[in-house]
Amino acid sequence: MVWNRALKDRLSAESGAVITDWGGRLPVAIVYANSYHIGMSNLGVHALYKWFNSRDDFVAERVFWDEEPQSTSGGLSVESRRPLPDFSVLAFSVSFELDYLNIPRMLKSAGIPVFSNDRDESYPLVIGGGAVLTANPMPVAPFFDAVCIGEAEAILPSLSQAIKDPLDQPRQTQLERLAAISGVYVPSLPAPVKRQHVSILDDFMVGTTVFTEDTEFGDMFLLEVQRGCRFSCRFCLVASSFYPFRYRSIESLLNQARLARKYRNRIALVGPVVSEYPHLAELLRGLKELGYSLSIGSMRVKPISTEVLNELVMGGVKSLTIAPEAGTPKLRRSIGKGFSDDDITEAVRKIGGAGIRQLTLYSMVGLPGETDADVDSLASLVLRSKVEADKHHVALSLNVSAFIPKAHSPFEREPMASAKDIDGRFDKLERSLSGKGVKVKPDTSGWGEIQAALARGDDKLAGVIEKLDKISLAGWRRSMKTAGLSTEAYAHRRFSEDEPLPWDIISM
Ligand code: SF4
Repeated sequence: MVWNRALKDRLSAESGAVITDWGGRLPVAIVYANSYHIGMSNLGVHALYKWFNSRDDFVAERVFWDEEPQSTSGGLSVESRRPLPDFSVLAFSVSFELDYLNIPRMLKSAGIPVFSNDRDESYPLVIGGGAVLTANPMPVAPFFDAVCIGEAEAILPSLSQAIKDPLDQPRQTQLERLAAISGVYVPSLPAPVKRQHVSILDDFMVGTTVFTEDTEFGDMFLLEVQRGCRFSCRFCLVASSFYPFRYRSIESLLNQARLARKYRNRIALVGPVVSEYPHLAELLRGLKELGYSLSIGSMRVKPISTEVLNELVMGGVKSLTIAPEAGTPKLRRSIGKGFSDDDITEAVRKIGGAGIRQLTLYSMVGLPGETDADVDSLASLVLRSKVEADKHHVALSLNVSAFIPKAHSPFEREPMASAKDIDGRFDKLERSLSGKGVKVKPDTSGWGEIQAALARGDDKLAGVIEKLDKISLAGWRRSMKTAGLSTEAYAHRRFSEDEPLPWDIISM
């Protein structure tokens, strides 16, 4: 009852939610395997919600995993507070590997068998999609009846037809129909699958559809500007998984922003490399004319446009992130980031000169080929940047995380550094920069190691995830040990060049 009331309050605090009578429509749960607070900043959730609810033959409601209440009542939808088994289809949108750990818990709590093989047509179809599943769905593949490989907008027209037609058919027939769709991987009928993408982004606008204050970017309208990337940094999977680089027309972006203006005063532009949007200064001016204040996550170090910086500052932006990624030009070149040290300090100078007051540098440690000397050089580079930042009264911080090898990135076979080495490098940086006026924010190494194992995992990990009694580092270790598996072999080992990879079945 308490949870029902909380869901009602949540719904009444939203704008833009769709409440539709289920009569004659196929009910789809858009499922996010993490909290409402995190999930409502995920544009994949908004895009799926909008796509299904724009059709007369479907009704879509959202289900999140808010640990405490769900542990007693099972996942209930925000809109009509129905449990997962009331839906015909559960569409999981998955963006982070660590969210895999919540998928079996959500299904179990709703009384739905976790493994696809144990479900018949009396249960909803369980379908997954999202960036991490596109790169390598294997560790969670046995939980899903089907996994979408690539962009939802490219697959949904055929998929929606297939899930609608044969609802009273045996599950095997349903799965065979799904397996026949381009870009759909059916784990019980394994066959090579090719990633799907759309050519023209303007046909499918992606932005905040349901507005709530109860999310990380709750005061903003999030708008997707571009997909893919023209660069191919060797640690990053964007260039392969979201190929090719595409961007939306300025007219369609401004049009969308105009429609959302009644909900929010602030807009955040979303995409892997927003600063590469070719008409960025013009777009920023147009958004300001609509009365928006602006937000942009990060910018590439080079080229960095003074015109764009000035527009951002005039649009109210006070903080920015740039990503040197590593401490020396040699190491940066080896990862595909060809910036010199001077390029980085020049970027700091321009950013400070334009009037930005808070700058975050982002870097990794544990990169292939990295030495202690590279970490020392990173600290020196940060201090050189600090001199430049001080001239313009810019507060400087350093966010640093561990390199995690990702399937379908050029570094997919490289090992992740050991937790001991990573912690040692985090410590080294903190010691070198302590008392120098730079705030250092290191990530944690333990969960990074599990993320790496999941990113390069095979279907044996599904059993480990399913058996997790508790989501904790100790729980993971126990479950791995029981299964006779080692995190080391997935995360910290170099995969040899002739070794088949679990994700070879996916063609990018
Ligand atoms: S790190 Fe950024 S610039 Fe490099 S490939 Fe990924 S998205 Fe592109």
